[in-house]
Parts: sequence; C-alpha cells; structure tokens
Amino acid sequence: MGRGPTWEAWEEEITWRYHQEGRTIAETIQALKSRGSDRGENSVRHKREGLRQVHSHISSSPDVSLIKLRKPRILYFDIETTDFKGGPFGELLMMGYRWEDEDDYKIIHIYDYKGWNKERLNLRDKQIVKAASEIISSADVLVGHYSPRFDLPFIQTRLAVHRLPPVAEPKHIDTWRICAKQLAFSSNRLGKVAEYLGVPQQKGEVSLATWRASKAHELWALEELSEYCIQDVKTTYEVMQVLKPIAREWPSMNLLTGGMVYECPCGSYRVAKNGFYLTKVNKYDRYKCKDCGRWTRGRQSVVDKATERMMK
Ligand SMILES: [Zn+2]
Repeated sequence: MGRGPTWEAWEEEITWRYHQEGRTIAETIQALKSRGSDRGENSVRHKREGLRQVHSHISSSPDVSLIKLRKPRILYFDIETTDFKGGPFGELLMMGYRWEDEDDYKIIHIYDYKGWNKERLNLRDKQIVKAASEIISSADVLVGHYSPRFDLPFIQTRLAVHRLPPVAEPKHIDTWRICAKQLAFSSNRLGKVAEYLGVPQQKGEVSLATWRASKAHELWALEELSEYCIQDVKTTYEVMQVLKPIAREWPSMNLLTGGMVYECPCGSYRVAKNGFYLTKVNKYDRYKCKDCGRWTRGRQSVVDKATERMMK
C-alpha cells in the first residue's frame, strides 16, 4: 500500500481550493478521500492530523454550515388507528410527524385522500397508508415512542393487506426502549416520561366517546384525535432532545450527512479526550462531547504492542 500524500500537501490543496473555487472543506476532503489516499497506517495518521487541523480551522470560522453536506432526514412520528392490531380490522386514521430540522408539525388524515369513503369498510385507509409509507421510506432515521413495536408493524401490516409494496425500515430509535433499557423510571409511558422530565405533554386522555366516534370516521372525533396525535409527536420530539446524548443507538452525524468531521453523533466536532474505554482485551480512547455531554470512544485500540504480547 503506497503512502498517501502528507497532510501539508492536503492542507495546501484544501486551502487553495477553498479560496479559489469556493469549495467547502468537507467537499474538498471528500474529493481527496475518493482518490483512495486514506489507506494504510501512515495515511490514517495523516488523516487524523488533517482532521485535527480542519477542526481548528472550523473553530475559527463562524460558519459551521460549511461542513454540512447533506441534510439529515430524521423523522419523528406517531399514528392513530381504529384498533391495536392492523389485521384484519384495524385501519390507519392519521399520522402526525415532523422532520428534525423543520419546526412545523404535520399530519395526514384518512379523509385527506380522495375516494377513501368509497372503499369497503376496513379497507378505507389504502391511500393514507401508501402516503405514510412514502414519508417513512424517505427518512434515514425514524424516532417514535414504542414505534418499532406498534406504529411501524401496523403500517407494514396494512400495506400487506392492501397488496402495496413494503415500507422501508430506516434506523429506528425508540424513546420507550431507551427509557426501558438505559434509564430507571417507574413508568415508561410517554406521558409519564414527559412528566418526569418536565416536558410539555397531553392535557388529558382521549375520551371513550371520541375513540368510538373515530372508529366510525366521524369528523369531529378525528379532529379531536388529530390534536392528540400532534401533541404526542411534539412530546416524543422534546423527550428525544433530552435522551439524545444518552441514546446508544443514535447514529453518527457523519453517516447522515456524508461529512467526515463530526466527532459526536450530535453533530459537534468539539470532543475532549477523557479516560479510556476498556474491553476484556482492548483499550480505546474515550471522549466527551463539549456540547451535548455524550461519551464516545475511539475505534482503534490503543493497547501498545508490548502489552498486547504479554496478554497472550
Ligand atoms: Zn455531542
């Protein structure tokens, strides 16, 4: 494996392109990377050194958007249905959602789609199920409360019933699961978690009368249910903001944007070395994010050769 170009050479080229061609740092690094110059141990060292220098460059530049390549598609969602099960009788009534980087909350209803009331009972949700599936399939990451166990399987079931193609299953973050596996609250219900964390939530429960009328597709009831649905998406979003630095499964920002410079999944490049992470036979550098507080670790073992030999 040939030795890649030195960082000095990279830096020269990056700076030049940045000023002459208006290329962003990330775009330039990407271009350099695609030349295959990041292979081999020497180049890894060079790349690390390079990234360090890019970080210091970015820290001195107020426009962090320079390093954003692609918009991360993170979808928060919640559905309301006529039944707990999607087959044979349950129908999808509505899906509330928001994108991480957009402020507004949106909702689609069964009655938004033409001809919904012309289908047979229990098959009236065909168009909304199709629309919901398209929205979900365009996401990189899905966030919901208990949604890998309820919302997504429900939609998948309805698609199968309607003989529609399956919904993609993006990386799925379940706020319920984070609470159940990583925290110790006395209840993991969304409303309770929100209450414990001091996050805005539902004012009250949906009345039985509203549920019954919703099943019969009565407009007033569906409208009431809409507000409930949107509030659940809002609460899920707010709860997730608190849980983000804790969530083990939250993906790396580099994967989402195609960037190379984020050190923390939150999108920050400001991490500080702080101790080591040990496995039975390996040792990794451990880092703490200066912005969100998340702990991460390096990917390469830092056990020295002598110690490694001793451990056989
Ligand atoms: Zn962070």
